Amino acid sequence: MIIVLDKSATPEQIEQITSKLEQGGYQAHPIFGVEKTVIGAVGVPEEEKPGYVEQFEALPFVERVITILAPYKLAAKAYRPQGSVVRVGDRVEIGGDRVCIMAGPCTVETYEQTMSTARAVKEAGAHMLRGGAYKPSTSPYSFQGLGVDGLKILAEARAETGLPVVTEVMDPRNVELVCQYADMLQIGTRNMQNYDLLREVGNTRHPVLLKRGMWARIDEWLMAAEYIMKGGNENVVLCERGIRTFETATRNTLDLSAVAHVKQESHLPVVVDPSQGTGKWVLVLPMSRAAIAAGADGLIIEVHPRPEQAWKDGAQSVTFENFGQLMREVRAIAEVMGKAL
Ligand code: PEP
Ligand code: MN
Repeated sequence: MIIVLDKSATPEQIEQITSKLEQGGYQAHPIFGVEKTVIGAVGVPEEEKPGYVEQFEALPFVERVITILAPYKLAAKAYRPQGSVVRVGDRVEIGGDRVCIMAGPCTVETYEQTMSTARAVKEAGAHMLRGGAYKPSTSPYSFQGLGVDGLKILAEARAETGLPVVTEVMDPRNVELVCQYADMLQIGTRNMQNYDLLREVGNTRHPVLLKRGMWARIDEWLMAAEYIMKGGNENVVLCERGIRTFETATRNTLDLSAVAHVKQESHLPVVVDPSQGTGKWVLVLPMSRAAIAAGADGLIIEVHPRPEQAWKDGAQSVTFENFGQLMREVRAIAEVMGKAL
């Protein structure tokens, strides 16, 4: 931790900081420059740093406080430099040399719609089934999902196809229920900083797909992962799903540089959602190829038997036929990356 002092800081004020650090049992090394004085603080444990930062920055003669190490530990690359592989169900692995494809409808609408989609994506080679039973919605008047009936349909689709299911949980009170039906819990973009929910899924050992908040910086996203891991659940997979920018041609701006960057910063697997990321089915194929080329460990794709009749997100849902094409193209790119589908 480095404390940068104002030009006007007096020796007494410098002493005020060094003695506070020393009282805490830490070392303080002031460096007197021509223009400014900085104090290097050594030995302060990570969990105490935020407190010191706040207190020192409240002093009128402190310009700013810089912390050196990343604030996340369990999510940091150094925790597992070889990278993590997250297991879902008995057979699916996310991370390592594999590319994992999750596919299915945005929303579970009917038994028939979900079952036919599950069969089609399985046939095309997908590894997991996605589908929303609890849907976050901007309007409280629009469809909120089938709830537990939707979970039951997903469980039936898994029973028939063998595909493990990933579905969103929005309410900490529903975590136990969703765990009974789903193989992986999805935390949606709007809930990335719902700390009660993060803690609750952190208390389970269910794999978690943690979507990036549409407003969130990468460090905030990794801190959200840290919340889950701190509870003892290290089965976290990150999901880049696009962020809000000034651009309106696409629904979101799919930040693929975040994928490459997170791969440097963290050991956690990263998958990409080009459906929410672009909002347009015609862009889903090229961005799927790009995501795998950028180093993503997988994709989550919205597929619908009749996108023009979908209850939600039809414009970004691909048909069965286009999903088949996507699988073929992604398989080729994965091979170039030394990975297998
Ligand atoms: C979804 O996957 O359908 C969804 C609502 O995702 P997000 O939370 O990324 O908007
Ligand atoms: Mn959707």
